[in-house]
Amino acid sequence: MAQVELLAAVQAFLARPHGSFIEGKAIAASRTLPVYNPANGETIATAGDSDADTVDQAVRSAHTALRDGRWSGLRPADRERILLAFTALVEAHAEELAQIETINQGKSINLSRALDTGATTEFMRYMAGWATKLHGESLDLSIAMPPGTRYTGYTRREPVGVVAGIVPWNFPLMIAAWKVMPALAAGCSVVIKPSPETPLSALRLAELALEAGVPPGVFNVVTGAGATGQALVSHPLIAKVSFTGSTQTGKLVGHAAVEHMARFTLELGGKNPMMVFGDADIGKAVQGVMLGGLLNQGQVCAAASRIYVHKSRHDEFVNALSAAVSTLTLGPGLDPGAQVNPVVSRRQQQAIEGYIESARQEGAKLAAGGKPVEAPGFFVQPTILSGVSQDMKVAREEIFGPVLSVLTFDTDEEAVQLANDSHYGLGASLWTSDISRAMNLIPRIEAGTVWVNTHVLLDPSMPFGGYKQSGIGREFGRHAVEGCTEIKSVCIAH
Ligand code: NDP
Repeated sequence: MAQVELLAAVQAFLARPHGSFIEGKAIAASRTLPVYNPANGETIATAGDSDADTVDQAVRSAHTALRDGRWSGLRPADRERILLAFTALVEAHAEELAQIETINQGKSINLSRALDTGATTEFMRYMAGWATKLHGESLDLSIAMPPGTRYTGYTRREPVGVVAGIVPWNFPLMIAAWKVMPALAAGCSVVIKPSPETPLSALRLAELALEAGVPPGVFNVVTGAGATGQALVSHPLIAKVSFTGSTQTGKLVGHAAVEHMARFTLELGGKNPMMVFGDADIGKAVQGVMLGGLLNQGQVCAAASRIYVHKSRHDEFVNALSAAVSTLTLGPGLDPGAQVNPVVSRRQQQAIEGYIESARQEGAKLAAGGKPVEAPGFFVQPTILSGVSQDMKVAREEIFGPVLSVLTFDTDEEAVQLANDSHYGLGASLWTSDISRAMNLIPRIEAGTVWVNTHVLLDPSMPFGGYKQSGIGREFGRHAVEGCTEIKSVCIAH
């Protein structure tokens, strides 16, 4: 199929020099990093590698905006109206943003349209509504002195302060919106640091926010590598850090935040089990893993990665999955007909290939894929491994690529035990036609989200986050907005 032709607006955007976005203005960078097209490895733009001074400027701009009330002091209805206008503007620019996302991240343009812009604008609209729905509670107090005095208390939810959002490279626009929208709905100012691999869409998002009426200084972006992120989360004027990325880096971020008592939400990795029981509809389970395991080339924190299949259905499942995977066509994300697209970077491609090689060496069988792709971009064949055992590296570590390990179980008890045998606990799915089995097993699964006969799909109202080392706190729903507030108790004697 012919590749989508880039809009003139996208071409012009790529050609601009990109620095940071502070106080409503693009700030030129003294040091830059190249930005690549994963489909061919060519440089498509440059972005700033911001130093600590630039980070300080961005945080101070956000802090001044918070203190002078240009956003935090607006009536909630005014904040909601502006956030809805912002959402409408993102929707009006959806094709432009989808193209930027695909050429920078590598994913299919179909996915960029459906999720990265489509689902993102639904999330934005949902979160805009929270601006007018946050509330505290009134308390009838029992304080006993001095005699005869009565007390009434109430709580207020106030903006927590300046929120730092560290955004990874798998869903750069969508996850930036996950950080920005709850914070803005709660009246906070934000500084976003996108991944150095995918800095472009967050910069465009901040421009659109300004155009929609979000005041300058309320939504800032600093681009750069790990040192930029480190300077941001360590800044004493940051009141809350919202981080999505690996568990290893998440721990460093949590430590840095605690140093100055910033609140933090960590949405980290996963090694998500999918359990296919003997009574499951195998056709649906195969379709489920094609979506839940291979979406965005498996570069999804909640992606199904350990597939436990009841012994009685193992061969049928592996044959059907391998056949389905073998029909997929490979090509650049800008080709709407290509179903397998590049992963984000050469580094990620090599890391995934290393996992496939480790599985081979540890004795797993390649049921499908697993061969190097002879193409200039960062492609990895979707790979199905059978004969995997629980102690193999591919069954224990987050791969973040299109590699699925199939294992077997005998009893429900064993399935639960294997699924929970991981230090991760982000998502899990049960595939069964027996609702009683599902209802009895759900409470026993150590994961922040349990899906039944589906996997990976999220909704703005459904809390999202991890058990165990998959993170701390929840994004989405009321938890996301309340997580950007501080509770103040008020006590009135009368
Ligand atoms: P990291 O978790 O290392 O990095 C995520 C972001 O944090 C990047 O922008 C990174 O910048 C920044 N960063 C790094 N160090 C610090 C620090 N000390 N303080 C603040 N920010 C920092 O992820 P990677 O991109 O290196 O990917 C590695 C693995 O992480 C993947 O293979 C995957 O397993 C997992 N991952 C999980 C994601 C999820 O959604 N849960 C998303 C992305 C990755 P820089 O890149 O310059 O280091």
